[in-house]
Amino acid sequence: MKTEIRQSLAECLRFARELGLESTTLNPRFFAPAQPAAVTAAKSAPARPAAPAASPRPDARPASPPSAPTPRRVAPASAGIAAADAFSFSIPAMPGTMGQEPRPAAESLPAIRSDLGECTRCKLHSLGRHNIVFGDGNAQPRLVFVGEGPGADEDEQGLPFVGRAGQLLTDMIEKGMGLARSEVYICNVVKCRPPGNRTPEADEIAACLPFLRRQLRALAPELIIALGATAAHALLGTQPGRGPLNALRGRIHSLEISGWPARVLVTYHPAYLLRDPRQKKEAWKDLQIAMHDLKLAIKPTSLSDGS
Ligand code: SF4
Repeated sequence: MKTEIRQSLAECLRFARELGLESTTLNPRFFAPAQPAAVTAAKSAPARPAAPAASPRPDARPASPPSAPTPRRVAPASAGIAAADAFSFSIPAMPGTMGQEPRPAAESLPAIRSDLGECTRCKLHSLGRHNIVFGDGNAQPRLVFVGEGPGADEDEQGLPFVGRAGQLLTDMIEKGMGLARSEVYICNVVKCRPPGNRTPEADEIAACLPFLRRQLRALAPELIIALGATAAHALLGTQPGRGPLNALRGRIHSLEISGWPARVLVTYHPAYLLRDPRQKKEAWKDLQIAMHDLKLAIKPTSLSDGS
């Protein structure tokens, strides 16, 4: 390699280091033995005359959508043409601009509800639904409760947790945690009542879950409490049937919802507590974790003795 090219290459590499570039790719053609000019010319395709530049039509659309981000190749002009042809640099992707999907901004609840519309995305729309139960409560809550799906009372009124289980949830919030129900937000994994109050099926959860995630992103609470196994598994992405709900209780789980760092605590569903009141003591332990996390004062409550 000639001395001046070696010096140019060294200058280019110094320039790359100053820019913080990650990698350098050598161009193998640069180092291939040179072919005689006549042979090179014979192999070259005849040059086509350049097409005149057409003026873009005002209604013209781009010929193709923007391509996926790829590392930019840059050669430093100051280093001279010969050395610049010898290699190219890879610029590391810049967070949030090239290498990553931009984080979607939080939407408003009315916009999400409007997008849901008179939803027919899963079969629950045709299995006796009277009302879509979107959610209810404070739109800027510190705490959100997520249940499984609406029951008969909820389907009738279009509001979440208004039956017997809803009354117990209100007690948990107001008598247990010392908050007003109107301070929190309450919603479900599926927005339409499964017939006979059966557990929502996997395809129904899959169809409705994106709306729950958008809701939670819009609400951005400090803490989400998943009520029961269906809500816990849907939010945490864990497999239903793999281990008891107990294994998920007792700690705050961290997860990401569209770039937003969500925190989830798992406890029993109030309908389960109505069937087995002895578990109220366990639910009270979970609420105390939430209260400690939210820095709420903890007082003795009737929930603690299972009554
Ligand atoms: S449960 Fe959800 S996805 Fe299914 S129809 Fe109702 S709103 Fe749509």
